[in-house]
Amino acid sequence: MSRLNIFNKDVKQIKGVGEKRAKKLSKLNINNAYQLLTYFPKTYEDRRYFKTISNCQDGQKVTLKVQVCGHIKNIKTKKGYRITKVPVKDDTGYAFLVWFNQPYICNNFNKNCNLKINGKVKIIRNQIQIYNVVFEREEKNNKIGKIIPIYSLTQNFSNNEIMTIVKNAIQSYGDKIKETLPINILSKYKFISKGDAIKNIHFPKNKKIFNQAKRRLIFEEFFIFQLGLLYFKNVKNNNKSGIQFKKIDDIKKFINQLPYKLTSAQNRVCNEIINDMESSSPMNRLIQGDVGSGKTIVAIIAMLKSAKSGYQSVMMAPTEILARQHYNKIKQFLEGYDIKCGLLVGSLSNKEKKILLNKITEGNINVLIGTHALIQDTVSFKKLGLVITDEQHRFGVKQRRKLISKGVNPDILVMTATPIPRTLALVIYNNLDISIIDELPPGRKKVETYVVNRNYKKRVYNFVKKQIDLGRQAYIVCPLIEESNSSSIQSASTLYKMLSDSFFQNNNISLLHGRLSAKEKDKIMEKFNKGEISVLVSTTVIEVGINIPNANIIVIENAERFGLAQLHQLRGRVGRGKHKSYCILINESNNTKTYERMKVMEKTNDGFKVSEKDLKIRGQGDILGVRQHGLPQFKIGDIFKHYDIFRYAQKEALDIYSNDPQLKKVKNNNTKIEIHNIFNINYR
Ligand code: ADP
Ligand code: MG
Repeated sequence: MSRLNIFNKDVKQIKGVGEKRAKKLSKLNINNAYQLLTYFPKTYEDRRYFKTISNCQDGQKVTLKVQVCGHIKNIKTKKGYRITKVPVKDDTGYAFLVWFNQPYICNNFNKNCNLKINGKVKIIRNQIQIYNVVFEREEKNNKIGKIIPIYSLTQNFSNNEIMTIVKNAIQSYGDKIKETLPINILSKYKFISKGDAIKNIHFPKNKKIFNQAKRRLIFEEFFIFQLGLLYFKNVKNNNKSGIQFKKIDDIKKFINQLPYKLTSAQNRVCNEIINDMESSSPMNRLIQGDVGSGKTIVAIIAMLKSAKSGYQSVMMAPTEILARQHYNKIKQFLEGYDIKCGLLVGSLSNKEKKILLNKITEGNINVLIGTHALIQDTVSFKKLGLVITDEQHRFGVKQRRKLISKGVNPDILVMTATPIPRTLALVIYNNLDISIIDELPPGRKKVETYVVNRNYKKRVYNFVKKQIDLGRQAYIVCPLIEESNSSSIQSASTLYKMLSDSFFQNNNISLLHGRLSAKEKDKIMEKFNKGEISVLVSTTVIEVGINIPNANIIVIENAERFGLAQLHQLRGRVGRGKHKSYCILINESNNTKTYERMKVMEKTNDGFKVSEKDLKIRGQGDILGVRQHGLPQFKIGDIFKHYDIFRYAQKEALDIYSNDPQLKKVKNNNTKIEIHNIFNINYR
């Protein structure tokens, strides 16, 4: 292969790098020429424009052309500092270059020599002094008169040292850096060559080419990363063998007997799951679907298939309320198919638990639903074939793994209502295939959403009261208080007390929060479900999955404290029945940006749009769950800042992958080599 692999060039082969520097570089994770060349500057200093001494202002960073004039002074202060002052002039005035404790610096200057300098101006009693001086002889052109890269400095490197080493590396290898992007992509996006991009990201000739270099390198980083994920996932999946579930007729019968027709999105996702289950490699699939899009029924179909193929399946939900709700529904649906369901939650008595655990071990439970209790060591299955986690963002990777390890390469299904844009989901859930239910069952009404300020509170509560008098039910959600859970409960209690003493003194009003025992919570939810409670004041424990169709109004206090994705989740608690539904966001912030963010909720009911907007407005990674899942560390790209480039890179990566999944085509060869190199050092 003629391609020079700068990955194989030890840093010690670069001019200026000996043992000592090589060691220090190694601590910065720089061991070869490639890693050095991709140690990108943190920022830049534009030293192209010269000022004159008379124009210097206090505190400014300036670049000057000066001549040394007069004697260099070495002064010793009372405290023992050594100060070196070099007098200089230009046509407009005089100044001093000043150094502390570097007396040897004066060896660099002789009388009348011409210099280019850069430094920080300090004007002391009309005397112009320049500190932090960088200088070079007038005839040189290394540090001054151009845009200078500033590297993040650690390991006692000076900026100049790194700059020089990088420059040497570029001199030796710069012209030999081979292209890594496919030719059609280069021309489609008018990217400059990789070599030019590397050169100009360190030593930009001008702003324009710098921007081109940056754009190209960011694209490349995202592109290689995403294509690499796809490529390696393919390699891995083809090597692992899983369960091949049977083709069964019951599925059709089951679907035909449902009280409703599956949406076409549900049908599509069901087929994807069924195909996965019948294939010999293990299923690893994420179902993303907005609240109320009907994920549960899809999971039930998978469980039916598992049971009818002779395997047990398990579904883990984040709260007992939700586990119970699933259990009741699943039992009802699978009745008549000779399938035994079980519910394992923390509140079972020891005796109940023991009996259930025995049944699970003996294989007398086909479908098990539960909470975290499922991952305890005491739970062992006879033949676990399918593992489902609902609202998966509530679980850690460890918890999921533990559950999965109770089977032998079981099929895996995770469900989430956290509407992360597909672009990000592909990265965050990079080991999963993704199915999206992007359609709601017919007849769902839009939840009317209003953003109001605190002056409207009275009217809001009166409006709630009116709805209750019409027979509806309401949620009032208390402010999210980070850090301390107890103050969140306190604020819930205060609000509860205030409301039950005033607006709702003649209504059934209850308080729900995380400190209540599971039994107490269940009791309250049960009452709410039966309509015995009209107003539920609550912390965010009601966020997930609860389905109570008669509740048609949700008020969210201090809505500005929530992320949009979370507001959307909360809003999903209503709009589930035949009555017109409302979501009222009380915004206590005066910030116009915050207000605009809230307004997004008024305009759209589509969770994916909400999160995409959130991403764009905030431009950062704290949309629900994203940060928690962790994103890869990129060297130059930032998914949130460069989201548009990220999307293009993804599109191209997917495109290439679908045509050439193993990157066997000649035109993709360089890209493939790059992927192997990069993944070996960065992402393994
Ligand atoms: P989520 O995706 O939020 O978990 P669920 O699975 O709880 O949503 O479904 C929400 C509601 O929609 C349930 O009451 C369910 O019975 C109903 N549902 C699901 N699919 C359909 C459909 N195709 N047509 C009508 N209603 C449906
Ligand atoms: Mg659900």
